[in-house]
Amino acid sequence: MSARSPFDSLQFAKSGESLSGSLSIEELPRLGDSLRPDDAAVQYRLSGVLAAGRPALRLEVEAVVWLVCQRCMAMYPEALVLDRVLPIARNEAELDYWEKLDPLLDALVADPALDVAALVEDEVLLSLPVVALHAEGGCNPDALALKYVD
Ligand SMILES: [Zn+2]
Repeated sequence: MSARSPFDSLQFAKSGESLSGSLSIEELPRLGDSLRPDDAAVQYRLSGVLAAGRPALRLEVEAVVWLVCQRCMAMYPEALVLDRVLPIARNEAELDYWEKLDPLLDALVADPALDVAALVEDEVLLSLPVVALHAEGGCNPDALALKYVD
């Protein structure tokens, strides 16, 4: 199965199959600000699994994303490793019902033409920190010095 052509997400979840591949920046336009052309492409693996009896997609993603530190305003790379299990509801009604049972459930409605690149983009965007910061002591001292000059 090619990851490049859309496929039925519910059928895939039920099939127990898996596929993996890599996506380049050109295939992930919404992540353009967070990816660098010279980094390795975004690696992903998508598997059909059962989660609490529900068909689900397990999405694993490995990527290097570039974030702007909100303390020193320098860009820095962060290794991102995602492992998400997304139950697939047959329709909106089933999704609503699941979310009533479990408000924190992260589920998707079945998509007859799932685009893997779009799904990877969604999940990476959701996982980016709201406020990016270097680890303590990791800031660029020159940038900090400039910032605090009167
Ligand atoms: Zn910093």
